[in-house]
Amino acid sequence: MSTFEKLKPYMSKRMALTHALTAINWDNETEAPTNAVDLTSNAQGVLAGLYYESVISDEIKSVLLECKADDSLSFNEQAIVKSWLKSFEDLEVIPVDEYTAFNQLCVKSSSAWAKAKEENNYELFKPYLEKAIEYKKKFATYRNKDNKALYDIYLDDYEEGFTMEILDEFFDSLKQEIVPVLAKVKPVSKGLNDKIYKKEYPIETQKEFNKWLATYLGFDFDKGVISESAHPFTTNFHNHDVRITTHYNLHDVVNAIFSTIHETGHAIYEFGVSDEITQTPVGGGASMGMHESQSRFFENMIGRNKTFWIPIYSKLQETFKEQLSDVTLEEFLEVVNQAEPGLIRTEADELTYCLHIMVRYEIEKMIFNDEVTVDELPAVWNAKYQEYLGLTPKTDTEGILQDIHWSDGGFGYFPSYALGSAIAAQLYYHLSKEIDVEECLLNQNLKPIVEWLKSNIHQYGETKKMKELVEAATGEPFTATYYIEYLKNKYSK
Ligand code: ZN
Repeated sequence: MSTFEKLKPYMSKRMALTHALTAINWDNETEAPTNAVDLTSNAQGVLAGLYYESVISDEIKSVLLECKADDSLSFNEQAIVKSWLKSFEDLEVIPVDEYTAFNQLCVKSSSAWAKAKEENNYELFKPYLEKAIEYKKKFATYRNKDNKALYDIYLDDYEEGFTMEILDEFFDSLKQEIVPVLAKVKPVSKGLNDKIYKKEYPIETQKEFNKWLATYLGFDFDKGVISESAHPFTTNFHNHDVRITTHYNLHDVVNAIFSTIHETGHAIYEFGVSDEITQTPVGGGASMGMHESQSRFFENMIGRNKTFWIPIYSKLQETFKEQLSDVTLEEFLEVVNQAEPGLIRTEADELTYCLHIMVRYEIEKMIFNDEVTVDELPAVWNAKYQEYLGLTPKTDTEGILQDIHWSDGGFGYFPSYALGSAIAAQLYYHLSKEIDVEECLLNQNLKPIVEWLKSNIHQYGETKKMKELVEAATGEPFTATYYIEYLKNKYSK
């Protein structure tokens, strides 16, 4: 038996448990009733414990080390072994009881967060947040071999090779370039916004249109599902089962459209992962940032592009005859491309989006440097919004309670969103040198674009890292330059 053959039964078990946990998560977010959470979290806790054992045991470690020493392994096999050994090292230092307790806490914390947000009551969420921070600091300390800053450990989890030093520079350059552009942008008139937002768009009709739109972009309904959730997201089982959600609002036809385009971008990434690796530990996207680059590529570079809408805007108008027959394509594009500082990250436009991320990044740094207590967080949040966006939230619901991420300890995740936008701009610049994007969009043929992304990025899953993929696809290292240029060009018009 080859060394890698020995690993396969362990891998099957690990992937089966991942599948089960993912299915429960999907169910919690979409179908499960609100009161299910406490009891369901018991089952999740048990499964998470089994998952832990399926990833790390002395037996598995010896097989992994045997594989590591075997130079006859294929590229993909080596990537699996490397990635597994990394998760092994990250997990084995955490006592299993603490790991299980943390997972149970996360489920309860997420539901406490939802309640706190609904009732605008930070106090309900505070004890959970405090505990989540405690665990994350403790886990980072266990993992810290090289005397790193604790926050750098989590930044590296989401984007390998990225540190506060690199991100400080990245965000500084964005701040310097974007704030002056923002000051010059003129808001879209209230009359024009009302022309779109003061109308009702029946939800069932929106669903039909969004389904059509997802298909148009390349979403495969034989391998995918679209459901609904408060915050749209994508869940991936393997390249034959990718689930996305979107969110419908009676008065806001635009929001669902762009959520659908965004999540379809994530889904197309997962559909494109090669069959050889899809059901392995390296079967997902290369990183959070890389994933976000694909969703933003479709949402912004494609979806907010005039040429994309030229052949299909009439379809939208026909679908909503009463509501949109007096809205021209130019007016529609003006509305979907408007930039204006706001309080809510998920509603932010392309230009102000990274300012929302900067607020969170700076607060996370403070948390991990012990520069702020959980009691002080709402006030710090509000002060930073005033500083960067010129607005102060009136409630915690539209302030610190707006995002789910911290409720399950997802510290270090937020910068991926900004990195994703920058990667998307860099990929778009180089892709449009090789492919006539405008012609593809006019001819309603997105295939060459999807194929380019598939062959340069998607097929590799996690076997290659973001930095490596970007450099191979564009011929240069990751840079914020194209993103800054893109925003400056677009919004100085
Ligand atoms: Zn996304």
